[in-house]
Amino acid sequence: MENNDNNINEKRCLLCNKPYNYKYKMFGRGCLDNLYRLLELSKPPKFIWNKETYLCTQIAWRNHKFFLSKNKKYSLAQKYIALNYLNRMNYEFLDDIKEKITKDINNISVFSRNIVSTISFELNDIYKLFNYTQKFNELVKELQSIDWEDIDEKIAKNFIKNMSFIFDITKKIDLISYAVFYSMQYTFWQVVVIGGMLKDKKLSARLLSNSLSLLGKKPEDLTIQDKVTDELLMKSRVFNDKLKELIEKYGKETDMFDLKDYEKDGVLLKFEGGDLLYSLHKATLFFKAIKNEDNTWNLEGEINDTYDFTEFKDLKEYADNKESVLTDILSTLLNNFGVISSEYGVIKPYDVKIKFKFSNYKIKLYEE
Ligand SMILES: [Zn+2]
Repeated sequence: MENNDNNINEKRCLLCNKPYNYKYKMFGRGCLDNLYRLLELSKPPKFIWNKETYLCTQIAWRNHKFFLSKNKKYSLAQKYIALNYLNRMNYEFLDDIKEKITKDINNISVFSRNIVSTISFELNDIYKLFNYTQKFNELVKELQSIDWEDIDEKIAKNFIKNMSFIFDITKKIDLISYAVFYSMQYTFWQVVVIGGMLKDKKLSARLLSNSLSLLGKKPEDLTIQDKVTDELLMKSRVFNDKLKELIEKYGKETDMFDLKDYEKDGVLLKFEGGDLLYSLHKATLFFKAIKNEDNTWNLEGEINDTYDFTEFKDLKEYADNKESVLTDILSTLLNNFGVISSEYGVIKPYDVKIKFKFSNYKIKLYEE
């Protein structure tokens, strides 16, 4: 087939992908200038005719490589520039990739036959990834200054929506962009959600935190028994109502019972608000009860759940209206992000067990 495309010989800058028609082989003039600055190389003297080859030669010298062929010099320069951008992104998850590129750089010598690329990349892709991380860092800074207790719903939603570019499932395909997007998402959950939105919801923050897995690792199951959680339970109407219902049902004729004997699979608990609602979604309750002489009860039990952030979409059904801003965001926007982060393996489900032991528990009566 005849190809009439005039652009077939058009040169595009390897870094920014914009067309250019200067004599250089790899970069437009603007990008070349920027590269001198980025790599902290001194500007070429006036008499240097080709500033691009001069850049490549300087990069080679900096790597203690001399008498390289032109091809090797160009290839070395690209790898070296890529490595520089990756270093600037400063993500631990990139360490593996950086190591491979460093190895490839070391393998380029005047004696080497071929240029080996253990890891292949387009410089333009790395450049784009770098720009994404710059934008992301700016947004994180802004989000950190938000007071989530006291924010307008629209503003909050907009802030979070601006972040949606880091939840792009198509970036998962390539190894380098996967690592970068994984890192941004990981930071988002750690800083924005755990350190920001859920700052005053200690249990939810802890559970989400445990759900964030390091690259390639599975989160460990969690057993929780502490004062903070005890207090949450003691304050929860849903929890106290459930205890009342079960104690009245099974403790009428006896001073001692084990719920397991009657409810083999435990009893479902659906919390209606606050920290517990954000933490537990389909929790099951088990407990043993012993009656004291003064009609109080000693209770020992546990609440079991599989923590899964992608189940936040159910939040809206249960939550009371007071918490609408956060609940709304968590159950819509963040839930969608959570689904993507689960695909990436940033967020992983695990089993959580909350243990409790209450002495002299008095059945609580709430006024309607
Ligand atoms: Zn360019």
